[in-house]
Amino acid sequence: MIPKGLTSKHFKQAAAEINRLGVPAERNSVHYDLVIEGKRYPPKYIVSLAAKSATGKEYPAADFNAVEAKNYFLNNGYEVIDRRVEAEGSVVDEDDESAFPEGRESYKIHHHFERDGEIPRQAKAKRLDEVGKLECDVCGMDFHRVYGKLGHGFIEAHHTVPVSELAGIGKKTKVSDLALVCSNCHRMLHRGSSLLTIEELTQLVHDK
Ligand SMILES: [Zn+2]
Ligand SMILES: [Zn+2]
Repeated sequence: MIPKGLTSKHFKQAAAEINRLGVPAERNSVHYDLVIEGKRYPPKYIVSLAAKSATGKEYPAADFNAVEAKNYFLNNGYEVIDRRVEAEGSVVDEDDESAFPEGRESYKIHHHFERDGEIPRQAKAKRLDEVGKLECDVCGMDFHRVYGKLGHGFIEAHHTVPVSELAGIGKKTKVSDLALVCSNCHRMLHRGSSLLTIEELTQLVHDK
């Protein structure tokens, strides 16, 4: 049971004590964060400290559990964050091509130009011929350098012309329309609300 008679004043005092002294490692919370004045605290430890400032003695943590503490604060109008839910919310399932903000159709068309046919192959061959290696145009990653023999000759082609501009009849992909990028950078190019340019992503990598 949560001790009776605790008020927002006691919780603020508890928060102030944590601000001053920190949280002992064994009192950190596993799943929940209680929000007090914009900062996050372990709910159970806040209850213990609040009880101490209200009654003069610390309340044993074993007398109530984390879910009780969470519900107690929620019922009293506090914000309690479940870190598991928070973590799930920030992860997008990118295996589903509909997760690409450009939309499913333009994603498919875009990748058709990058994957199929002769042009991506020519672009890689030309690069190998000119500089002797296949490095990512954004971050410089080289699959051969990182993965050895397995990575030799591997890089992804990225079409730099937006699909909307490719729609014209008879417009063919040219080698010069293709950038060569590692798989990570390729995903990031497509991740924004519109296609990023190679220059924009390179800038991001350097500014981070
Ligand atoms: Zn890269
Ligand atoms: Zn692409």
